[in-house]
Amino acid sequence: YQAKASGGSVAAYDSARDAASTDQLALLAELREALQVDDQLVLVLQPAVDLTTGAPTGVEALIRWRHPRRGLLGPADFIRPIENSDQLGAFTRYVLDKALAVAAGWAREGLDIPISVNLSARSLLDHRLPGEIAEALRRHQVPADRLVLEITETVVMSELEVIDQVLLALRSMGVQLAVDDFGTGFSSLAFLTRITVDELKVDRSFVLQMGDSREAAAIVRYTVGMAHELGLRVVAEGVETAAQRSALAELGCTSAQGYHFYKPIPADKISAVLNALSRETPNNVRSLRADD
Ligand code: C2E
Ligand code: MG
Ligand code: MG
Ligand code: MG
Repeated sequence: YQAKASGGSVAAYDSARDAASTDQLALLAELREALQVDDQLVLVLQPAVDLTTGAPTGVEALIRWRHPRRGLLGPADFIRPIENSDQLGAFTRYVLDKALAVAAGWAREGLDIPISVNLSARSLLDHRLPGEIAEALRRHQVPADRLVLEITETVVMSELEVIDQVLLALRSMGVQLAVDDFGTGFSSLAFLTRITVDELKVDRSFVLQMGDSREAAAIVRYTVGMAHELGLRVVAEGVETAAQRSALAELGCTSAQGYHFYKPIPADKISAVLNALSRETPNNVRSLRADD
């Protein structure tokens, strides 16, 4: 009886898994199409702001899939299957192309704001990536230092060498690097000794807990202090309240991103927001001129 019952449950498990993988295969087939056509995979854009002046310090591109039947999908619904498929390269190129098109538009309007793009750690295993990014920067005529690549180091340790080579190649092109979700990976600190980066992004979970948790507050404080000591920018993620905003400012955090300031904005609305922000904040206008 026992054997029969467990046999039954194994069969049930297998069919559930088959259904899930069939669905993932369907999703990937649909993605292949979406990458060919247009306007199904879109970027929304979330500004990060300077905590003292309110001026935009950068804008992060976040992918959305306006799926004709499944509705609006977020990265949590489809990034993982893409990462485990042969379409990761095509997807990464697509996102970079869309993001650089946006950045090129800003440059034409005289807006001098970097765009941040999230890279799957797995895409750093592809030696062709730096060359592809260099080509895309040339095609869109965007200077390399206007592009910030956000990376998380949930990375396969055995592949460290390849990843370091790819990151070094990107650095030497002048592209900026940011460590996303800083503090949540297994090796955030060791990572900093291997690769020079430009920015640390304090993970939302620490910002969320810093009011109640001494541990979370200490992690934020030390991350900010370390960033300053190393001459890196530090951006707090997921700021939702005025209390979090002022606590971060008190800790010396210079820049923040979150619903308290802006939710992600559709691509056709972002430049109006940035133009208004740049007009309103004299400090930003000065820094834009200083860069000319
Ligand atoms: P992330 O890079 O850490 O992005 C921050 C996430 O937090 C975004 O979710 C953003 O919409 C959300 N967020 C921003 N402010 C707030 C806030 O105040 N409160 C809360 N609760 N959430 C906030 P999203 O867009 O769903 O992206 C999730 C993750 O998916 C990203 O985390 C990033 O790792 C990944 N991702 C997004 N776009 C891309 C992409 O184009 N390519 C790749 N490979 N990954 C992407
Ligand atoms: Mg990010
Ligand atoms: Mg993040
Ligand atoms: Mg995060």
